[in-house]
Amino acid sequence: MTRWDEENCCALCFGCHQYLDSQPIEKVEFFKEWLGENNFNMLNSRVRQVHPKPDKNLLMIYYQSKIKALGKGTEASLREKIKQ
Ligand SMILES: [Zn+2]
Repeated sequence: MTRWDEENCCALCFGCHQYLDSQPIEKVEFFKEWLGENNFNMLNSRVRQVHPKPDKNLLMIYYQSKIKALGKGTEASLREKIKQ
């Protein structure tokens, strides 16, 4: 299962997302290039893995900490830009 897999995430604008969803072959090629062949293959191997089920509480803690770290990074870099 890759629904909550970090490797299965790519932030795209609405148009690019819609385009890739309508072009399955290009979508595969895009993700191979985006992740690299090895990471793509590893992600693909997890598609049918259903056990163990993901621990959603643990995922929430993990992603919340990543969001917090990104927020701090963004805020710090904004402060640096303001100082210049
Ligand atoms: Zn786009």
